[in-house]
Amino acid sequence: MKVIDHINQAKDTLVSFEILPPLKGKTINSIYNHLDPLMEFKPSFINVTYHRSEQIFKKKADGTFEKVEIRKRPGTVGICAAIMNHYKIDAVPHLICGGFTKRETEDALIDLNFLGIDNVLVLRGDATKNEASFEPEPDGNRYAIDLLKQTVDLNHGIYLEEDIREGFRTHFCIGIAGYPEKHFEAPNLKSDMDFLKAKVAAGAEYIVTQMFFDNSKYFAFVDHCRAEGITIPIIPGLKPITNKKQLNVIPRTFHVDIPTDLSNEIQRCKTDEDCEKVGTEWLIAQSRELKKAGVPVLHYYTLGKPKVIWKTVKELV
Ligand code: FAD
Repeated sequence: MKVIDHINQAKDTLVSFEILPPLKGKTINSIYNHLDPLMEFKPSFINVTYHRSEQIFKKKADGTFEKVEIRKRPGTVGICAAIMNHYKIDAVPHLICGGFTKRETEDALIDLNFLGIDNVLVLRGDATKNEASFEPEPDGNRYAIDLLKQTVDLNHGIYLEEDIREGFRTHFCIGIAGYPEKHFEAPNLKSDMDFLKAKVAAGAEYIVTQMFFDNSKYFAFVDHCRAEGITIPIIPGLKPITNKKQLNVIPRTFHVDIPTDLSNEIQRCKTDEDCEKVGTEWLIAQSRELKKAGVPVLHYYTLGKPKVIWKTVKELV
Protein backbone atom coordinates (compact mmCIF):
# COMPACT_ATOMS: atom_id res chain seq x y z
CA MET A 1 0.00 0.00 0.00
CA LYS A 2 1.17 3.52 -0.73
CA VAL A 3 2.35 5.82 2.06
CA ILE A 4 -0.14 8.45 0.95
CA ASP A 5 -3.01 5.94 1.25
CA HIS A 6 -1.88 5.03 4.77
CA ILE A 7 -1.99 8.71 5.66
CA ASN A 8 -5.30 9.43 3.97
CA GLN A 9 -7.01 6.46 5.61
CA ALA A 10 -5.60 7.10 9.12
CA LYS A 11 -7.81 8.29 11.97
CA ASP A 12 -4.85 9.16 14.20
CA THR A 13 -1.12 9.91 13.96
CA LEU A 14 0.72 6.93 12.46
CA VAL A 15 4.16 5.61 13.37
CA SER A 16 6.95 4.67 10.96
CA PHE A 17 10.59 3.70 11.35
CA GLU A 18 13.73 4.20 9.35
CA ILE A 19 16.60 1.74 9.36
CA LEU A 20 20.04 1.46 7.79
CA PRO A 21 21.14 -1.69 5.97
CA PRO A 22 23.57 -3.66 8.15
CA LEU A 23 27.29 -3.48 7.52
CA LYS A 24 28.43 -5.89 4.81
CA GLY A 25 29.06 -9.33 6.33
CA LYS A 26 26.00 -9.32 8.61
CA THR A 27 22.84 -11.27 7.89
CA ILE A 28 19.24 -10.14 7.45
CA ASN A 29 18.67 -11.39 11.02
CA SER A 30 20.37 -8.25 12.32
CA ILE A 31 17.52 -6.30 10.71
CA TYR A 32 14.87 -8.60 12.17
CA ASN A 33 16.48 -8.39 15.64
CA HIS A 34 16.40 -4.61 15.34
CA LEU A 35 12.80 -4.44 14.15
CA ASP A 36 11.14 -7.30 16.05
CA PRO A 37 10.58 -5.33 19.30
CA LEU A 38 9.18 -2.36 17.35
CA MET A 39 6.55 -4.43 15.58
CA GLU A 40 4.13 -4.21 18.52
CA PHE A 41 3.52 -0.59 17.47
CA LYS A 42 2.26 -1.71 14.05
CA PRO A 43 4.31 0.75 11.99
CA SER A 44 2.58 1.74 8.77
CA PHE A 45 5.80 1.59 6.79
CA ILE A 46 9.54 1.16 7.24
CA ASN A 47 12.08 3.20 5.34
CA VAL A 48 15.43 1.73 4.36
CA THR A 49 18.25 4.15 3.62
CA TYR A 50 20.57 3.88 0.61
CA HIS A 51 24.36 4.06 0.92
CA ARG A 52 26.49 4.52 -2.15
CA SER A 53 29.97 3.12 -2.50
CA GLU A 54 33.03 5.11 -1.51
CA GLN A 55 36.52 5.20 -2.93
CA ILE A 56 39.26 4.63 -0.39
CA PHE A 57 43.03 4.30 -0.61
CA LYS A 58 44.23 0.93 0.68
CA LYS A 59 47.87 0.44 1.64
CA LYS A 60 49.54 -2.40 -0.23
CA ALA A 61 52.36 -4.65 1.06
CA ASP A 62 54.95 -2.64 -0.91
CA GLY A 63 53.91 0.58 0.84
CA THR A 64 52.09 2.08 -2.15
CA PHE A 65 48.38 2.79 -2.12
CA GLU A 66 45.67 1.53 -4.42
CA LYS A 67 42.30 3.13 -4.94
CA VAL A 68 39.47 0.72 -4.19
CA GLU A 69 35.73 1.09 -4.30
CA ILE A 70 33.91 -0.27 -1.25
CA ARG A 71 30.26 -0.41 -0.35
CA LYS A 72 29.79 -0.80 3.38
CA ARG A 73 26.02 -1.08 3.51
CA PRO A 74 24.59 -2.74 0.43
CA GLY A 75 21.17 -4.38 0.30
CA THR A 76 18.51 -1.63 0.42
CA VAL A 77 16.25 -3.24 -2.16
CA GLY A 78 16.69 -6.78 -0.79
CA ILE A 79 15.95 -5.58 2.75
CA CYS A 80 12.76 -3.86 1.57
CA ALA A 81 11.60 -7.06 -0.10
CA ALA A 82 12.53 -9.08 3.02
CA ILE A 83 10.61 -6.68 5.31
CA MET A 84 7.51 -6.86 3.13
CA ASN A 85 7.72 -10.63 3.02
CA HIS A 86 8.60 -11.21 6.70
CA TYR A 87 6.40 -8.62 8.43
CA LYS A 88 3.79 -7.93 5.73
CA ILE A 89 4.52 -4.23 6.22
CA ASP A 90 5.18 -1.70 3.48
CA ALA A 91 8.80 -0.81 2.93
CA VAL A 92 10.06 2.45 1.44
CA PRO A 93 13.46 2.25 -0.22
CA HIS A 94 15.47 5.45 -0.46
CA LEU A 95 16.68 6.05 -3.98
CA ILE A 96 19.44 8.55 -4.65
CA CYS A 97 20.88 10.29 -7.71
CA GLY A 98 24.52 9.80 -6.66
CA GLY A 99 26.30 6.84 -8.23
CA PHE A 100 23.49 6.00 -10.66
CA THR A 101 23.18 6.68 -14.36
CA LYS A 102 19.61 7.28 -15.50
CA ARG A 103 19.60 3.83 -17.09
CA GLU A 104 20.64 2.20 -13.82
CA THR A 105 17.94 4.20 -12.04
CA GLU A 106 15.35 2.99 -14.51
CA ASP A 107 16.45 -0.62 -13.97
CA ALA A 108 16.33 -0.15 -10.19
CA LEU A 109 12.79 1.22 -10.42
CA ILE A 110 11.76 -1.73 -12.60
CA ASP A 111 13.23 -4.13 -10.00
CA LEU A 112 11.29 -2.38 -7.23
CA ASN A 113 8.10 -2.61 -9.24
CA PHE A 114 8.63 -6.32 -9.92
CA LEU A 115 9.10 -6.85 -6.17
CA GLY A 116 5.74 -5.22 -5.47
CA ILE A 117 7.25 -2.13 -3.85
CA ASP A 118 4.98 0.86 -4.45
CA ASN A 119 6.89 3.53 -2.56
CA VAL A 120 10.16 5.40 -2.98
CA LEU A 121 11.74 8.32 -1.17
CA VAL A 122 13.73 10.16 -3.84
CA LEU A 123 16.84 12.05 -2.79
CA ARG A 124 19.91 13.55 -4.31
CA GLY A 125 22.46 12.02 -1.93
CA ASP A 126 25.58 13.78 -0.72
CA ALA A 127 29.03 14.27 -2.17
CA THR A 128 31.37 11.34 -1.57
CA LYS A 129 34.28 11.87 0.85
CA ASN A 130 36.67 12.69 -2.01
CA GLU A 131 34.34 15.20 -3.70
CA ALA A 132 34.20 18.87 -2.74
CA SER A 133 30.58 19.03 -3.85
CA PHE A 134 28.02 16.59 -5.19
CA GLU A 135 28.71 15.38 -8.73
CA PRO A 136 26.21 13.20 -10.56
CA GLU A 137 27.33 10.34 -12.77
CA PRO A 138 27.74 11.26 -16.42
CA ASP A 139 24.16 10.83 -17.61
CA GLY A 140 22.92 10.65 -14.03
CA ASN A 141 20.34 12.79 -12.26
CA ARG A 142 21.77 15.98 -10.72
CA TYR A 143 18.99 16.95 -8.31
CA ALA A 144 16.28 15.02 -6.50
CA ILE A 145 13.74 16.70 -8.80
CA ASP A 146 15.39 15.06 -11.82
CA LEU A 147 15.09 11.62 -10.19
CA LEU A 148 11.53 12.46 -9.20
CA LYS A 149 10.67 13.37 -12.80
CA GLN A 150 12.21 10.13 -14.06
CA THR A 151 10.06 8.19 -11.57
CA VAL A 152 6.94 10.14 -12.59
CA ASP A 153 7.77 9.40 -16.25
CA LEU A 154 7.85 5.68 -15.46
CA ASN A 155 4.51 6.05 -13.70
CA HIS A 156 3.26 7.33 -17.08
CA GLY A 157 4.88 4.46 -18.98
CA ILE A 158 7.64 6.70 -20.38
CA TYR A 159 10.95 4.81 -20.51
CA LEU A 160 14.38 6.07 -21.56
CA GLU A 161 14.25 3.94 -24.72
CA GLU A 162 11.97 5.98 -26.91
CA ASP A 163 10.96 2.95 -28.95
CA ILE A 164 9.20 1.39 -25.92
CA ARG A 165 5.61 2.29 -26.65
CA GLU A 166 2.71 1.38 -24.42
CA GLY A 167 5.27 0.55 -21.72
CA PHE A 168 3.98 -0.76 -18.39
CA ARG A 169 3.08 2.08 -16.02
CA THR A 170 4.59 1.78 -12.58
CA HIS A 171 2.63 3.26 -9.68
CA PHE A 172 5.14 4.62 -7.25
CA CYS A 173 4.06 6.90 -4.44
CA ILE A 174 6.95 9.36 -4.27
CA GLY A 175 8.22 11.04 -1.11
CA ILE A 176 10.86 13.76 -0.88
CA ALA A 177 13.07 15.33 1.80
CA GLY A 178 12.44 18.73 3.39
CA TYR A 179 14.65 20.76 5.73
CA PRO A 180 13.00 22.80 8.50
CA GLU A 181 16.42 24.36 9.23
CA LYS A 182 17.35 24.73 5.52
CA HIS A 183 19.46 22.42 3.39
CA PHE A 184 23.09 23.22 4.12
CA GLU A 185 23.94 24.13 0.53
CA ALA A 186 20.95 26.41 -0.04
CA PRO A 187 21.90 30.08 0.02
CA ASN A 188 18.75 30.94 1.96
CA LEU A 189 15.38 29.58 3.10
CA LYS A 190 13.59 31.19 0.16
CA SER A 191 15.62 29.39 -2.49
CA ASP A 192 15.35 26.08 -0.61
CA MET A 193 11.58 26.58 -0.41
CA ASP A 194 11.36 27.38 -4.14
CA PHE A 195 13.11 24.11 -5.01
CA LEU A 196 10.90 22.22 -2.55
CA LYS A 197 7.83 23.71 -4.26
CA ALA A 198 9.19 22.61 -7.62
CA LYS A 199 9.54 19.01 -6.34
CA VAL A 200 5.94 19.10 -5.12
CA ALA A 201 4.71 20.52 -8.43
CA ALA A 202 6.61 17.75 -10.24
CA GLY A 203 4.61 15.06 -8.40
CA ALA A 204 5.92 14.45 -4.87
CA GLU A 205 3.11 13.20 -2.64
CA TYR A 206 4.57 13.80 0.82
CA ILE A 207 7.61 15.28 2.54
CA VAL A 208 9.75 13.69 5.26
CA THR A 209 11.75 16.22 7.21
CA GLN A 210 15.33 16.20 8.27
CA MET A 211 15.59 15.53 12.01
CA PHE A 212 15.00 18.47 14.34
CA PHE A 213 15.18 18.80 18.12
CA ASP A 214 13.08 21.91 18.50
CA ASN A 215 9.46 21.42 17.46
CA SER A 216 9.02 25.14 16.80
CA LYS A 217 11.35 24.70 13.78
CA TYR A 218 9.02 22.02 12.37
CA PHE A 219 5.87 24.08 13.02
CA ALA A 220 7.44 27.15 11.39
CA PHE A 221 8.46 25.04 8.38
CA VAL A 222 4.94 23.64 7.99
CA ASP A 223 3.48 27.18 8.22
CA HIS A 224 5.98 28.39 5.61
CA CYS A 225 5.12 25.48 3.28
CA ARG A 226 1.38 26.09 3.65
CA ALA A 227 1.84 29.81 3.01
CA GLU A 228 3.71 28.88 -0.19
CA GLY A 229 0.81 26.67 -1.30
CA ILE A 230 2.37 23.28 -0.44
CA THR A 231 -0.54 21.17 0.78
CA ILE A 232 0.93 17.64 0.86
CA PRO A 233 1.56 15.88 4.22
CA ILE A 234 4.77 16.85 6.01
CA ILE A 235 6.09 13.97 8.12
CA PRO A 236 8.41 14.94 11.00
CA GLY A 237 11.65 12.95 11.18
CA LEU A 238 12.79 12.30 14.77
CA LYS A 239 16.00 11.03 16.28
CA PRO A 240 17.17 10.63 19.88
CA ILE A 241 20.40 12.01 21.28
CA THR A 242 22.07 9.31 23.35
CA ASN A 243 25.63 10.48 24.04
CA LYS A 244 27.70 13.65 24.44
CA LYS A 245 29.62 13.23 21.17
CA GLN A 246 26.40 13.72 19.23
CA LEU A 247 26.22 17.33 20.44
CA ASN A 248 28.96 18.06 17.89
CA VAL A 249 28.49 15.25 15.40
CA ILE A 250 24.80 15.86 14.70
CA PRO A 251 25.13 19.60 13.89
CA ARG A 252 28.21 18.89 11.75
CA THR A 253 26.65 15.97 9.86
CA PHE A 254 23.03 17.02 9.57
CA HIS A 255 23.29 20.81 9.84
CA VAL A 256 20.65 21.13 12.55
CA ASP A 257 20.74 22.99 15.86
CA ILE A 258 20.46 21.40 19.28
CA PRO A 259 18.44 23.57 21.66
CA THR A 260 20.35 25.00 24.63
CA ASP A 261 18.15 23.28 27.24
CA LEU A 262 18.88 19.90 25.69
CA SER A 263 22.61 20.47 25.16
CA ASN A 264 23.01 21.81 28.73
CA GLU A 265 21.24 18.79 30.18
CA ILE A 266 23.33 16.38 28.12
CA GLN A 267 26.54 18.21 29.12
CA ARG A 268 25.65 17.72 32.78
CA CYS A 269 25.29 13.93 32.35
CA LYS A 270 28.01 11.77 33.85
CA THR A 271 27.46 8.58 31.81
CA ASP A 272 26.10 7.56 28.41
CA GLU A 273 23.23 5.94 30.30
CA ASP A 274 22.28 9.33 31.77
CA CYS A 275 22.55 10.93 28.32
CA GLU A 276 20.27 8.28 26.87
CA LYS A 277 17.73 8.95 29.62
CA VAL A 278 17.74 12.70 28.91
CA GLY A 279 17.60 12.12 25.14
CA THR A 280 14.69 9.69 25.51
CA GLU A 281 12.71 12.09 27.69
CA TRP A 282 13.32 14.87 25.18
CA LEU A 283 12.14 12.66 22.31
CA ILE A 284 9.03 11.63 24.24
CA ALA A 285 8.18 15.29 24.91
CA GLN A 286 8.75 16.18 21.24
CA SER A 287 6.62 13.24 20.10
CA ARG A 288 3.76 14.06 22.49
CA GLU A 289 3.60 17.66 21.30
CA LEU A 290 3.73 16.67 17.63
CA LYS A 291 1.03 14.03 18.09
CA LYS A 292 -1.15 16.55 19.91
CA ALA A 293 -0.69 18.92 16.97
CA GLY A 294 -2.04 16.17 14.68
CA VAL A 295 1.02 15.40 12.56
CA PRO A 296 0.28 12.66 10.01
CA VAL A 297 3.08 10.31 11.04
CA LEU A 298 5.84 10.20 13.66
CA HIS A 299 8.83 8.94 11.69
CA TYR A 300 11.69 7.68 13.85
CA TYR A 301 15.29 7.37 12.70
CA THR A 302 16.06 4.24 14.70
CA LEU A 303 19.77 4.14 13.70
CA GLY A 304 20.92 1.43 16.09
CA LYS A 305 18.78 2.70 18.97
CA PRO A 306 15.62 0.58 18.78
CA LYS A 307 15.29 0.43 22.61
CA VAL A 308 15.06 4.22 22.89
CA ILE A 309 12.50 4.32 20.12
CA TRP A 310 10.58 1.47 21.77
CA LYS A 311 10.47 3.36 25.12
CA THR A 312 9.36 6.53 23.33
CA VAL A 313 6.55 5.02 21.29
CA LYS A 314 5.39 2.94 24.27
CA GLU A 315 4.72 6.23 26.10
CA LEU A 316 2.46 7.40 23.27
CA VAL A 317 0.14 4.42 22.91
P1 FAD B 1 17.73 18.24 -3.57
O1 FAD B 1 16.26 18.42 -3.45
O2 FAD B 1 18.26 17.94 -4.94
O3 FAD B 1 18.41 19.57 -3.00
C1 FAD B 1 19.84 19.62 -2.85
C2 FAD B 1 20.26 21.09 -2.80
O4 FAD B 1 20.15 21.68 -4.09
C3 FAD B 1 19.43 21.98 -1.88
O5 FAD B 1 20.29 22.96 -1.35
C4 FAD B 1 18.40 22.61 -2.80
O6 FAD B 1 17.96 23.86 -2.31
C5 FAD B 1 19.18 22.73 -4.10
N1 FAD B 1 18.39 22.50 -5.31
C6 FAD B 1 17.35 21.62 -5.47
N2 FAD B 1 16.92 21.63 -6.74
C7 FAD B 1 17.73 22.50 -7.40
C8 FAD B 1 17.82 22.94 -8.77
N3 FAD B 1 16.96 22.47 -9.69
N4 FAD B 1 18.78 23.84 -9.09
C9 FAD B 1 19.64 24.33 -8.17
N5 FAD B 1 19.60 23.97 -6.86
C10 FAD B 1 18.67 23.05 -6.48
N6 FAD B 1 21.18 10.47 1.71
C11 FAD B 1 21.60 9.26 1.27
O7 FAD B 1 22.67 9.17 0.65
N7 FAD B 1 20.87 8.13 1.47
C12 FAD B 1 19.69 8.16 2.14
O8 FAD B 1 19.05 7.12 2.31
C13 FAD B 1 19.21 9.41 2.64
N8 FAD B 1 18.02 9.52 3.27
C14 FAD B 1 17.55 10.74 3.68
C15 FAD B 1 16.27 10.84 4.27
C16 FAD B 1 15.78 12.07 4.68
C17 FAD B 1 14.40 12.15 5.29
C18 FAD B 1 16.57 13.24 4.53
C19 FAD B 1 16.07 14.57 5.00
C20 FAD B 1 17.83 13.15 3.94
C21 FAD B 1 18.33 11.92 3.49
N9 FAD B 1 19.57 11.80 2.87
C22 FAD B 1 20.01 10.57 2.39
C23 FAD B 1 20.45 12.97 2.72
C24 FAD B 1 20.21 13.72 1.39
O9 FAD B 1 20.60 12.91 0.31
C25 FAD B 1 21.04 14.99 1.48
O10 FAD B 1 20.50 15.86 2.44
C26 FAD B 1 21.30 15.71 0.16
O11 FAD B 1 22.34 16.67 0.41
C27 FAD B 1 20.11 16.48 -0.40
O12 FAD B 1 19.13 15.66 -0.84
P2 FAD B 1 17.73 16.25 -1.40
O13 FAD B 1 16.96 15.13 -1.93
O14 FAD B 1 17.11 17.14 -0.40
O15 FAD B 1 18.32 17.13 -2.63
